[in-house]
Amino acid sequence: MQIDFEIFSPIHQIHDKLFDERGIKLFIKRDDLIHPIISGNKWRKLKYLLRDARAQNKTHLVTFGGAYSNHLLATAAAAAKFGFKSTGIVRGEEVNNDTLFLCRLHGMNLIFTDRESYRDKAALFQKYFEHDANAYFIDEGGGSALGAEGVSELINELRETYDHIFCACGTGTTAAGIINGIIEHQLSTVFHGIPVLKNGEFLRKDIDAILASPAEYDLLTDYHFGGYGKVTDELISFVKNFTASTGILIEPIYTGKMLYAIYDLAAKNHFKAGDKILAIHTGGIWGLLGMKDKFTG
Ligand SMILES: *Cc1c(COP(=O)(O)O)cnc(C)c1O
Repeated sequence: MQIDFEIFSPIHQIHDKLFDERGIKLFIKRDDLIHPIISGNKWRKLKYLLRDARAQNKTHLVTFGGAYSNHLLATAAAAAKFGFKSTGIVRGEEVNNDTLFLCRLHGMNLIFTDRESYRDKAALFQKYFEHDANAYFIDEGGGSALGAEGVSELINELRETYDHIFCACGTGTTAAGIINGIIEHQLSTVFHGIPVLKNGEFLRKDIDAILASPAEYDLLTDYHFGGYGKVTDELISFVKNFTASTGILIEPIYTGKMLYAIYDLAAKNHFKAGDKILAIHTGGIWGLLGMKDKFTG
């Protein structure tokens, strides 16, 4: 079976008085619509990893993530879709939650590991799968050059040139893929990454390591709202307002922080009149299931 499927990721304009007043246009690329579970950047990142596994005759995908990881869930569903066995090595003590329930439903076997051991992924892979010749290692979040290769195809799908592209960053693989696409197509577009972790400047070396050639790009490191998985009341109300006024569902861990940054920069007159901005909706809305208690009130 060929490892591919036809994807649907249209671009929609977001209308808001703020953008009209500033004379700018905001568009959103709906990678969240690619697949209900293998959503957004996760499918783009997995595509060439799964092809590599298949080319090496590996039949068992082994990967890593936290208990609410969108990547674990996407890998579980992609494994099921393309006929692989899958194991998820989960950080922290054994728990059950909505994300892990959906992982198991797709046939993923879960191994829980303490936070200390979790740091050394290669050692964990060795420990559990040394004798499994079919096992294929996929790093946390699908972080890899092969992952970035799939993401760079996003740029092939654009029918016009944008002045700015914005995307949320976890491992930085998606950012690197988009920047590589911008380089390949020799676009004048400026890329802005929003690290969702604290002190996100560290991502620059990870991104640079998988760039096709050195490039300039912007990392906006002040929109993490306290760090990975952390939210504030202000961010939660932004997510609610955005979803209620556009009909586009977002979550506050990634896309919410990225869109908040765009609205904040627009309000602070960071853009020029006439600028066209493209935000990438990287999906991951199942992450909302782990945050229901944050949305009360
Ligand atoms: C995983 C994820 C990201 C981060 O992607 P990286 O390639 O790790 O930087 C962004 N948005 C969503 C919704 C995600 O699930």
